[in-house]
Amino acid sequence: MLHGLGMRWFPVVGWAERGGSLATGHGNSVPRFHITWGTGPGVVAPFERRLREHVAAGRVDYRPRHRVTGLAIAGGRAEAVSGEILAPAGEPRGRATGRDVVGDFCIEAGAIVVASGGIGGNHDLVRKNWPTERLGPAPKRMISGVPAYVDGQMLEVAEAAGCGVINRDRMWHYTEGIANFDPIWPMHGIRILPGPSSLWFDALGRRMQAPAMPGFDTMATLKRILSTGRDHSWFVLTQSIIRKEFALSGSEQNPDMTGKDWRAVLKSRLGRKAPPPVEAFKQKGEDFVVAETLGDLVAGMNRLAGEDLLSPGALRAEIEARDRQIANPFAKDAQIVALRGARHYLGDRLIRTARPHRILDPAHGPLIAVRLNVLTRKTLGGLHTDLDARVLAPNGQVIAGLYAAGEAAGFGGGGYHGYNALEGTFLGGCLFSGRAAGRHAAGAA
Ligand SMILES: Cc1cc2nc3c(=O)[nH]c(=O)nc-3n(C[C@H](O)[C@H](O)[C@H](O)COP(=O)(O)OP(=O)(O)OC[C@H]3O[C@@H](n4cnc5c(N)ncnc54)[C@H](O)[C@@H]3O)c2cc1C
Repeated sequence: MLHGLGMRWFPVVGWAERGGSLATGHGNSVPRFHITWGTGPGVVAPFERRLREHVAAGRVDYRPRHRVTGLAIAGGRAEAVSGEILAPAGEPRGRATGRDVVGDFCIEAGAIVVASGGIGGNHDLVRKNWPTERLGPAPKRMISGVPAYVDGQMLEVAEAAGCGVINRDRMWHYTEGIANFDPIWPMHGIRILPGPSSLWFDALGRRMQAPAMPGFDTMATLKRILSTGRDHSWFVLTQSIIRKEFALSGSEQNPDMTGKDWRAVLKSRLGRKAPPPVEAFKQKGEDFVVAETLGDLVAGMNRLAGEDLLSPGALRAEIEARDRQIANPFAKDAQIVALRGARHYLGDRLIRTARPHRILDPAHGPLIAVRLNVLTRKTLGGLHTDLDARVLAPNGQVIAGLYAAGEAAGFGGGGYHGYNALEGTFLGGCLFSGRAAGRHAAGAA
């Protein structure tokens, strides 16, 4: 269906969230992270085109800058939405806009669909819902992987009106966040989509064990990081690794793919230098330390953390032990075994996995350390819905005329992904639940 609308995908499928150590356990056993040609804007474009046609034909009344603050439900039926009309704004996409109120509105409807997104931009709400018993205490410092409008306010409105919200402690936050040196939204963080070679140390300088390896198990790694009582961890890598293995999430960080420019894609992904956005972060990002020697690197890491938590001797011992395994064809280091495994997949070998080398080999330098922050992103719980995307009250009764889709409904149902998501599957839940809501709402209206 999406192909029919004109959507296309980058031919190399990424392999994210490879999972823990057991075949029966969490993780993707095959590559399944499909990148849309044109990234996010490429997904939206065919829908926007159709919507504009409907607006032009007078079939759709499009009302931006209308913020819903009330939902009227009476006798088990949703009847209307009300709220504030905000002053016009011309900010670029993703930037926070003004909240000056210039009027109000109330719209009655036979069918109402809530598609207001998650809570990741509202750190107070994230902390309130944090699953402390599963992951340990919420981080004191987080950065935002979503714009300010992802504020969870509409979920509170819906709940106050009598809708059921379930699985609110299910969230999907990343462990490889870096502060954006050129922020678009408040506390703007970017997620590194890492290849398998960077060495991962906790804030105290201990190398993390499987499954806390780059790209393996986000939730287990988050728990492991927080067990130190600190909020950050470190990647230690080489120039050769950053060049081949670092990808940054977000349409503006991938101008080649977003602009559908094949020549630029080939140059940036197969060239001798790191892609320009990655190189820019290396030079300007506040979380990066670059040095020729390990001693200088560790001194820079301690400076950045503001505490002398890392011992150069201990880090050297870990890195040298790992480096010795590179020359061992059998290798007992789980990350090196995984790295060799990754290179059996052609897609990884071509564009995502550096040729195995010693971290302390100056020919692959300089050395790079990246302070990794917890980055809020997805809300896996939300409005409780049935398979027709109908919203349910806390007692399980259907609220007539009310539907929910996308992240506001936990990507569908109020928790389509369970406790632990699989990467590359989120937008699918938005589209799928949106289709269910649209089809059934059209029948009901
Ligand atoms: C940088 C980035 C990278 C991502 N990468 C991926 C990826 O690679 N793969 C993947 O599957 N997913 C990815 N995601 C996640 C995915 O984009 C989101 O899960 C998805 O866009 C959510 O869609 P949605 O329509 O449910 O909510 P949103 O896209 O958040 O839209 C919600 C809309 O509702 C509006 N709204 C909110 N409250 C109100 C209110 N009270 N009144 C009126 N309007 C309101 C908001 O302004 C917004 O326009 C990424 C997200 C980000 C930010």
